[in-house]
Amino acid sequence: MNTTSALNLAGAKPLQFPIPANVYAETVVSVKHYTDRLFSFRITRPQSLRFRSGEFVMIGLPNAEKPIFRAYSVASPAWDDELEFFSIKVPDGPLTSELQKIEVGDTVIM
Ligand SMILES: Cc1cc2nc3c(=O)[nH]c(=O)nc-3n(C[C@H](O)[C@H](O)[C@H](O)COP(=O)(O)OP(=O)(O)OC[C@H]3O[C@@H](n4cnc5c(N)ncnc54)[C@H](O)[C@@H]3O)c2cc1C
Repeated sequence: MNTTSALNLAGAKPLQFPIPANVYAETVVSVKHYTDRLFSFRITRPQSLRFRSGEFVMIGLPNAEKPIFRAYSVASPAWDDELEFFSIKVPDGPLTSELQKIEVGDTVIM
């Protein structure tokens, strides 16, 4: 994990929770809401992350002692400096009921 990526860019606040081992803490750089069921978001990309088109990562939020992770297909190309994801909004979904509220500067774990 990159130490600077564990900071909240909006307020440069250090995180108040432990990031599990082997988990990246990345910063949300943009969020777009399309409908009440669909949004997309972009996060910083850890330099060490390599992937091929069509591969997925596990995404979670650092809001619980045992974070919930869900599979997300990477929508951005492998050469992009950021990672983009499209997400459903499930009203009572364990992850997306909270994930849909993310804002620029928030932390997403991966
Ligand atoms: C390999 C893989 C890649 C995935 N990639 C994405 C992705 O890029 N974007 C994304 O939004 N989800 C993706 N998913 C689904 C994702 O992992 C979660 O299920 C989703 O984010 C909802 O999480 P949740 O905890 O809020 O609700 P969950 O408890 O996971 O799901 C609640 C309900 O919503 C349904 N559901 C979940 N995801 C979707 C969806 N995308 N479209 C329609 N119905 C759905 C489930 O079948 C279930 O009935 C992927 C799943 C897998 C296995």
